[in-house]
Amino acid sequence: MTKHQHHPEVPIYQAETLAVRAGSEMTEFGENSEALFLNSSFRFKSAAQAAARFGGSEPGNIYSRFTNPTVTMFQNKLAALEGAEQCVATSTGMSAILACVMGLCNAGDHVVASRSIFGTSVQLFSNILARWGLQVTFVSLTNLDEWQSAVTVNTKLFFVETPSNPLTEVCNIRALADLAHKAGAHLVVDNCFCTPVIQQPLALGADIVIHSATKYIDGQGRCLGGAVLGSKVLMEPVYGFLRTAGVTMSAFNAWVFLKGLETLYIRMDAHAKNSLALAKWLEAQPNVARVYYPGLVSHPQHALAMQQQSNGGGIVSFEVKPKAGQTSQDAAWALIDATRLISITANLGDAKSTITHPATTTHSRVTAEDRAATGIDDSLVRIAVGLEHVDDLKADLLALTVS
Ligand SMILES: *Cc1c(COP(=O)(O)O)cnc(C)c1O
Repeated sequence: MTKHQHHPEVPIYQAETLAVRAGSEMTEFGENSEALFLNSSFRFKSAAQAAARFGGSEPGNIYSRFTNPTVTMFQNKLAALEGAEQCVATSTGMSAILACVMGLCNAGDHVVASRSIFGTSVQLFSNILARWGLQVTFVSLTNLDEWQSAVTVNTKLFFVETPSNPLTEVCNIRALADLAHKAGAHLVVDNCFCTPVIQQPLALGADIVIHSATKYIDGQGRCLGGAVLGSKVLMEPVYGFLRTAGVTMSAFNAWVFLKGLETLYIRMDAHAKNSLALAKWLEAQPNVARVYYPGLVSHPQHALAMQQQSNGGGIVSFEVKPKAGQTSQDAAWALIDATRLISITANLGDAKSTITHPATTTHSRVTAEDRAATGIDDSLVRIAVGLEHVDDLKADLLALTVS
């Protein structure tokens, strides 16, 4: 395969250009769209070549559980966008987190994680990895003192999502990275909500970036996938776990994600533009008590968010004011049930806008006390804003405008 670039002396391209061009290679047939290598194994010219490939003295593909050209193109494109030396693509976002921890931690090691991470990530750490001797402490996303005091001699990783789901709280990546490094630990940022278009954690001092490619990288709700990105040194054991344990990304999915990355810049801009317009409109509605969106000037960490992010992203949450005789949950459910256009689903990162009630879906396994402590009210509704015209989204939420 040869690189798609025309000039070997590669100039420094803008990020939008990298999203379209980076990582692409073409076969002898000269296809202009990346080829899908839907094959499990690769042939060798001789027994000696097979031995050299297996022994590692000759680079090249052996078996698609280890490497596959379509998956490699995806990895190289995403690595270029995140500014990472290396990317390891995985079967899902969850297996990216699993591969990261299994590659970099041993039994008895300790992880400090934000309490406000994806619910399944909490389950992975506290119900599964804990059974294998990993110690985990959950702390407040924004309180650096809590991170500091959670550190032990065995702390290997700090794990965070910013902005958080669903309340869009923002943590200072640079400050947290400094704290992690002083503790001899690595900072891992799950960058699923922002994508490299909006936030590049490695440039802010983080050591590892995690993605659920299932969300914005796909962008149209088709395939499951994930990725771990970082230095070659850190990614080597992560890749070692992947090729042995088999949490590999399918070549078909990698091919879909390659196409998704080509349009990531224009899509994320459109998601954010729609989100800001919707958030501003929501703030002005009589039946909305509070809006959570980092792009709003009223967001408590707006200034920090705008330093770290190029825009507010695509997730808007808000509290619905209950009418007389209504509970908070009734108010939220009534609004959700009154929609005709927006999809009622907990997924996000789709061209189709989605609406969900965190307290009874994504955060239903969290106890009512913990939900209250993290500020997730029963009146809270989350919208992952899609690419429809924003006026149609507003019209679908008309129940908010009548008092
Ligand atoms: C969806 C999601 C995951 C898990 O990704 P899957 O592809 O569903 O396994 C991890 N982190 C965040 C922030 C997510 O939104």
